[in-house]
Amino acid sequence: MGGDWGVGLALKIIAPLSGWCSSLDEVPDGVFAGRMLGDGLAIDPIAGTLTAPCAGEIMTLPESGHAVSIRSPHGVDVLIHIGIDTVHLGGRGFTARVKPGARVQAGEELIHFDLDLVARGAKSLITPIVVTADGIVLQNRRAPGKVSAGDLLFEIETAAPVASAPSPNAAGERIDAQRTLKIALRQGLHARPAALLARRAKACAARITLAAHGRSADARSVVAIMALGVRRGDELQIQAGGIEAAQAVAAMEAALEEALRSEAVHESVASAAPPAAAAAIAVAARAGRQDGLPGELSGVAAVPGFAVGRAARIERRDIAVSEQGAGAAHERAELERALSHVRLRLQRVRDAGDATRREIIAAHLEFLDDPGLNDGANEQIAAGKSAGFAWRNATRQSIAALQALDDSRLRERADDLLDVEAHVLLALAGEARPMHLPLPEQAVLLADDLLPSELTALDRTRLVAVALSGGGATSHVAILAAAMEVPMLIGLGPALRSIADGQMLIVDADGGRLQSAPTADAIAHARSAVASKNARNAALWAAAMGECHALDGTRIEVFANLGSIADAMAAVAAGAEGCGLLRTEFLFIDRETAPTEDEQVEAYQSIAAALGGRPLILRMMDVGGDKPLRYLPLPREDNPALGLRGVRTGLARPDLMRAQLRAALRVEPHGVVRILVPMVTDVWELSSVRAVIDELCSELGSQERVALGAMIETPAAALTAAAMLRQVDFISIGSNDLTQYTLAMDRGHAQLARRTDALHPAILQLMAAAGAAGEAAGKLVAVCGGVAADRSAVPILLGLGVRELSVVPAAIPGLKRHVGGLRIADCRDLAKRCLGLDSPSEVRAMIEQSGLGGEV
Ligand code: PEP
Ligand code: MG
Repeated sequence: MGGDWGVGLALKIIAPLSGWCSSLDEVPDGVFAGRMLGDGLAIDPIAGTLTAPCAGEIMTLPESGHAVSIRSPHGVDVLIHIGIDTVHLGGRGFTARVKPGARVQAGEELIHFDLDLVARGAKSLITPIVVTADGIVLQNRRAPGKVSAGDLLFEIETAAPVASAPSPNAAGERIDAQRTLKIALRQGLHARPAALLARRAKACAARITLAAHGRSADARSVVAIMALGVRRGDELQIQAGGIEAAQAVAAMEAALEEALRSEAVHESVASAAPPAAAAAIAVAARAGRQDGLPGELSGVAAVPGFAVGRAARIERRDIAVSEQGAGAAHERAELERALSHVRLRLQRVRDAGDATRREIIAAHLEFLDDPGLNDGANEQIAAGKSAGFAWRNATRQSIAALQALDDSRLRERADDLLDVEAHVLLALAGEARPMHLPLPEQAVLLADDLLPSELTALDRTRLVAVALSGGGATSHVAILAAAMEVPMLIGLGPALRSIADGQMLIVDADGGRLQSAPTADAIAHARSAVASKNARNAALWAAAMGECHALDGTRIEVFANLGSIADAMAAVAAGAEGCGLLRTEFLFIDRETAPTEDEQVEAYQSIAAALGGRPLILRMMDVGGDKPLRYLPLPREDNPALGLRGVRTGLARPDLMRAQLRAALRVEPHGVVRILVPMVTDVWELSSVRAVIDELCSELGSQERVALGAMIETPAAALTAAAMLRQVDFISIGSNDLTQYTLAMDRGHAQLARRTDALHPAILQLMAAAGAAGEAAGKLVAVCGGVAADRSAVPILLGLGVRELSVVPAAIPGLKRHVGGLRIADCRDLAKRCLGLDSPSEVRAMIEQSGLGGEV
């Protein structure tokens, strides 16, 4: 293919499409026909493959995939806009084959598009190819007529410097639209608004730059935006160049307004936050106080609490990377592989976590896709460095920029970047971050600072407190510690380093003090305070070993949600009476190939054995949407949450479904396994699965009728629960998805995390419909979504007819005690009153008032 540089400095631009070549005058859009963006030619395409018109770097390629601009090594920008008014298709019909920042060869495929679909939705298919600079003279222009991809379109003399049309920005790029605004956000451009701006910028065709304090940032990069250090009252310049520049500036303004509205919502929620979370959010201005008793260090309580234990340090292992790479293509591919591996792992952690963890992981996922980091790393790779070296350098540069800011909230985000850096470096080395780091019993963890994933990798049963010489009260690790109920002191200063491993310590996070040399008396006193608290907990765990009954004797099964054999063992230790949800998609998530039937039998059998004969509700693989599997590539979907998900994927891939069902049916003893169907919307889906099960049972010679259940995760399933129950033996409410699909709020959306409340009256009404259908049919109604572990929600669920709750293992002892104190008649009465309320906060207030919500 062409794309070679002419000896006389002529840049050859080759046809990126096959079709009919014409003048720009033929384009039914004044912007192109009037040469407002530059001179060029147009092609009416006859095939849906768009290739690079010259070698260079992809400068812009919006998520909608309808336009692309490429910069040649001489700095000439060529813009290609597929069809006219195609931005409105929102990406439908377009599949990008490269990403912004990629370096491509002339003739390399950039975008694939569905010619018919785009033709139906666009004003015209005619595609302008323009050089976006003034003073450029096109030579050897192709005459109108038939053209094949790769044919010469025109040449450009590049001896004279290329002059961008309107005034350039700080990076020397042209600006077609701009606006200067004063930032009204109370916290300035911190992580959340930066992420929102970056997401919106990625959807724009124009290249957008944000500038403040004499610095500028690519608007697609969260880290670059944060590094601008913009505070409330500062001026921010939004500059956009290229196609749809004015729309891009408007999109940035709209994003800032949205961030402002969302900040107001967050602040009102934070002021009503429960004590532990509020403590993590508030910064106690106690640091720097004079120390009192000898050996007493003072710090800031990031999470309140009291503990006695022995000092334990975890050393952060330096991850070795070699500087030299093994070729740019290899290293780029390695980085891509590591990034997608980490993305999958983090998505899994996010999905299994509570709202706090989801919010934090969403921010980490954003860093993985950050163009600032990716561009930085790719530049180093192109210069011969290894993927690890390049990624580390790119993250360290961003960390240095954040640490130079005088805004503590932004400085604390550096820890999140370090965490993401370590995840990727380990993935490059072929390792995963360990799920558990070793700790001695009763450990008070000492460190200069701690990363979120380091904290979650610790064995919670051995950890009594965390004490940091540095740290930030609003850091994500502090928020996580609050969620884990681990007392945490920060800002204890360098003196913390002189404490020897194994030394007895008293951590009084409530009082902001750490005693590093406590007297025997003080230890004894502190121990007895902690012991009485532990005794209460031990009694709770011991009592959890029996069957669970409500106060009036109604049997309520308390089951566990599992994703591994380790979970199954933890569940039994916590008093689980069975497994209410085995997320089978998690068992084989890191694989390149689908698990065989035998491999699945082995995994399911081990979990059944760990459960020691207790029932095992095995959910058929719930893939698609936000749970992609490498071994099951699905076609790109505009809206994956509404696409091939759950049972729909199974029905589309009967081979995989049959292998899984056969494996489930082979688990012994027969009858222990019940099968649960995910994401059901229609009884036909259930009868189809039932038919396959019947066929497999006769293939296996099994007479036993296996119990089948339907997940109630969509409003459709809840409203037709009675019909569903004619097909199945039980139903299980998946409140996580039911909330997402009822409120039309993405369950993984960081900014909406606090509003995705399953106690919204609309969701209560859907659960009430399912509960009533179950009672009428005399069949079990379970809940396996996160709401089952929400103490406030429990009386409502029981009042709506739910008789099985399935939760994370650690929540079981407390849940059993809570249920044991409730009378079903009171629960019914409360549920009835809550169904008529207007908002989740009214529901929560009513539960609080009733006194049935248990201890917080
Ligand atoms: C749910 O949606 O509530 C559920 C339990 O399924 P998952 O969280 O695995 O989607
Ligand atoms: Mg679900």
